[in-house]
Amino acid sequence: MWKNIRIALLLLVLAAVAINALLDRIATQGWKDTLWVGIFPLNGDGTPMAQHYVEGLTAEDFSGIDEFFAREAHRYGVAIEQPVHAELYPQGSELPPALAHDAGPLGVAWWSLKMRWFAAHATEVPGRAPPRIRLFVLYHDPATLDRVPDSHGLQKGLIGVVHAFALSAMAGSNNIVIAHELMHTLGASDKYDLGSGAPLYPLGFAEPDREPLYPQVRAEIMAGRRALSRQDFEMPQGLRDVVVGSATALEIRWTRP
Ligand SMILES: [Zn+2]
Repeated sequence: MWKNIRIALLLLVLAAVAINALLDRIATQGWKDTLWVGIFPLNGDGTPMAQHYVEGLTAEDFSGIDEFFAREAHRYGVAIEQPVHAELYPQGSELPPALAHDAGPLGVAWWSLKMRWFAAHATEVPGRAPPRIRLFVLYHDPATLDRVPDSHGLQKGLIGVVHAFALSAMAGSNNIVIAHELMHTLGASDKYDLGSGAPLYPLGFAEPDREPLYPQVRAEIMAGRRALSRQDFEMPQGLRDVVVGSATALEIRWTRP
């Protein structure tokens, strides 16, 4: 008897999770209403420099994300005028749970549960409507590290963690990383070599049919970098030089198979 009740409860919870994921998918891949994306800035390393930078952030710093999604969606014939709106929220005080670099599948599953718990609490701002997608942007003083830790975007839970540099000159490339993780929450997959970071040909190229192929002028958003030659690649200055490739457009349902 109790065993049956326990199993029934478990099935109920699993069904609720599955329905929730399905509803999230419908809401984020319908492209009928503007998708609200909350940017939650955080001082990633506790330095005064990062703090100063976070305090100086304005909505203007993220307007390139709205423009990028509108421009690229319209290129694919998506009718909605503003597909995405990135909204800046006040600075949070708590950092999201960290994901160990060597975490296995179980470690990642546990982290994503903790992440959802964290997001549910960290995004409550009195008087402000909760966004559909929550992106935590952790700013770091560039002097404290050469390379920021890996960023993550979760489709299940619609949460992203982005590591960014607390430097005005990097605001453009920070927006590329934010748009990339946002794309993950919408169902897009990476299109670069996870070992070397090189864009994958042809899906990770902005213009795979270009002659000559190199250098590529723009980058594909899920590759994040444009190929200058067979071995060299770089991140563009900002989203102006980034496109959504046809494979990514299909993944986020801007186009149909
Ligand atoms: Zn990625």
